[in-house]
Amino acid sequence: MELDKVLKKIDNLNAKTVGLQFPEGLKTHAISIAKYIEKEANVDVIISGDPCFGACDLVDRKMDGMVDLIVHYGHTALPLKTIVPTIFVEAYSKINMTSSLLNSLEYLKNYSKIALATTTQHLNLLNEFKDFFEDNGKEIILGSSSKNTRKGQVLGCNFSAIKDLNAEVCVFIGSGNFHPLGIHLFTKSPVIVVNPYTSDIYDISEFADRILRIRFARIAKSQEIKKWGILISSKEGQYRLKLAKEIKKTLKDEGMEATLIFLENITPDNLLAYMDLEGFVVTACPRIAIDDSQMYDKPLITPQELDIVLNKRKWEDYQLDEILFHERYEE
Ligand code: SF4
Repeated sequence: MELDKVLKKIDNLNAKTVGLQFPEGLKTHAISIAKYIEKEANVDVIISGDPCFGACDLVDRKMDGMVDLIVHYGHTALPLKTIVPTIFVEAYSKINMTSSLLNSLEYLKNYSKIALATTTQHLNLLNEFKDFFEDNGKEIILGSSSKNTRKGQVLGCNFSAIKDLNAEVCVFIGSGNFHPLGIHLFTKSPVIVVNPYTSDIYDISEFADRILRIRFARIAKSQEIKKWGILISSKEGQYRLKLAKEIKKTLKDEGMEATLIFLENITPDNLLAYMDLEGFVVTACPRIAIDDSQMYDKPLITPQELDIVLNKRKWEDYQLDEILFHERYEE
């Protein structure tokens, strides 16, 4: 948890009150870390109790005027303009992956040129993964870092690290299906998932086909919609007002109604009041429209999916939405 680094920063800033923000998986450590920091640094610590799914959801605007420093755990830094001094502490998984990596070789026997991708939790081991596969006769390609992500790192809203690598297959090391789905759609290559927590190893294509069928149905249903809501997130790293305004103009040009709605959390309850609206375009976290799709009666679609609805993009060019650095601070 890099507590020495945190204590040093508190000392440098002469901070009196410190805010801590954790993703759900690390919240069980919050109390012990808060107690340690309070004792060692003689400060007051305030834990942010709200859910946090990414560095995009930084609590600094809410804690402005309340704390002198925010320590955000579990995510790599995004290029956000923070109001309160903030440090990011990347928490790495300690899980042993030896047997998962060994078992993955069977799935990779027909491939020689492999791209590697992972999430923040395993970034510290990326070079070890590379060495392992190279020692087993594979050529490994790692995408370069960008303003949003580090070398080999993918986010649910950013896949720049794996684009244009020209590998035969991508190995994704991590949990969940959303990241490998995005990799598969962006690269059009097979993706083998190595889940170190469950030891599962599988090809993402079956899951991808299922999701694409659901998305196809949502897009088809959206073609009947004339009254749209366009959802803009108040979360700093998900805020895309310019894109939302462009979408509104496009819809109006097509003779449809479009209303901008600004909100922090997109939930079925928060959209219930807008009974006049028939569907929503989500400019916030790209995962909302895909992961939470079944929770909503009305279609929630991404900006790229709207392009398909409006015949501005072919279905064959379907891709997940991404939030890129320059979009975070557009006018
Ligand atoms: S916008 Fe969504 S996918 Fe991107 S970092 Fe935030 S929570 Fe993750």
